[in-house]
Amino acid sequence: MFREVFDTYDWDNTLSSIYTKTANDVERALNSRQKTLEDFKALLSPAAVPYLETMAQMSHAITQKRFGKTIQLYAPMYVSNECQNICNYCGFSFDNKLKRRTLSGIEIVQEAAYLKAKGFRHILVVSGEAEKTVGLDYFVKTIQLLRNDFPNISLEVQPLEEDEYRVLVSEGLYAILVYQETYHKDRYRDHHLKGRKSNFYYRLDTPDRLGRAGIHKIGLGVLIGLEDWRTDNFFTALHLNYLEKHYWQTKYSISFPRLRPAEGLIEPKVVISDKELVQLICAWRIFNEELELSISTRESESFRNNIIKLGVTTMSAGSRTNPGGYTVEEETLEQFEINDERDVDAVRDMISQSGYKAVWKDWDEFVFANPTA
Ligand code: SF4
Repeated sequence: MFREVFDTYDWDNTLSSIYTKTANDVERALNSRQKTLEDFKALLSPAAVPYLETMAQMSHAITQKRFGKTIQLYAPMYVSNECQNICNYCGFSFDNKLKRRTLSGIEIVQEAAYLKAKGFRHILVVSGEAEKTVGLDYFVKTIQLLRNDFPNISLEVQPLEEDEYRVLVSEGLYAILVYQETYHKDRYRDHHLKGRKSNFYYRLDTPDRLGRAGIHKIGLGVLIGLEDWRTDNFFTALHLNYLEKHYWQTKYSISFPRLRPAEGLIEPKVVISDKELVQLICAWRIFNEELELSISTRESESFRNNIIKLGVTTMSAGSRTNPGGYTVEEETLEQFEINDERDVDAVRDMISQSGYKAVWKDWDEFVFANPTA
């Protein structure tokens, strides 16, 4: 289990070792053939800031060689805002007074028809954590309703048991996104005040359960803003390294959600600038050439336009973050505010004007033998 590796690390020592990296460490990291976790620390560190232009060029070249000039598009579909947890950064938190809503089967089909007509074939089903109403049976039913139209179904829902994941994989589930939010145990406790999510180690063990259940892809990440982003991303890389060794048939993706305004929300403890976020994305790409790197509509239009060429491979577009937000009930409270408000056609046009191709399914549309075509 990853927790056994994790428990051998100390947060403060790790933070200190990142912030004391030198220009020599960065140059060694940039030039080493096999990137190590120490190299990743150097690429994340303040010492790497003067090397940002070099890092951006490397990240661009690696991504284009591996993935071609393509951006995979997906749409989130929020199916429920019911939640039994209190997380003080989230609009769906149990103590937040809002109208709760869980989509019926007919409503899921209606939302899905809208997204299919827009061209999407990759759908990310998102819900709050409400075991009784939105549990395993609900997810099975949702996958069954979607799988004929969407070859790529991902879930971002509460952590489940290994045998429950096996059921979902057998129904056609492709991926699970499960962000640790922060690897700082005290900070985690400060933000997860009630409910099952307050159990740090149960969440930390979730990718192990997913790997054992044979899931095709696992999405990792932290919520940037809760703690030092450099240290939190180092621990994400530590987690990824462990998972890649133990569940080597599984694919992995990394996301970079920044804390966004929502009703009843706390202010971020740590603010990452756009330039620092570029550094983070480039550091990940240079560290690991195979990873899918995903950026959502939490980010602004201009940031998303510019980041396309610097290492990301996957984007959401035209998103709504409230249940039924596309067709059923457009006015329910969002989980967080969208920053890039463009519809999917505008995002697709922007991708093509940048010289890239929008990919609607997983990478199976994409010709690996001739990636720059
Ligand atoms: S972050 Fe997830 S678990 Fe926490 S309140 Fe929001 S929806 Fe619920």
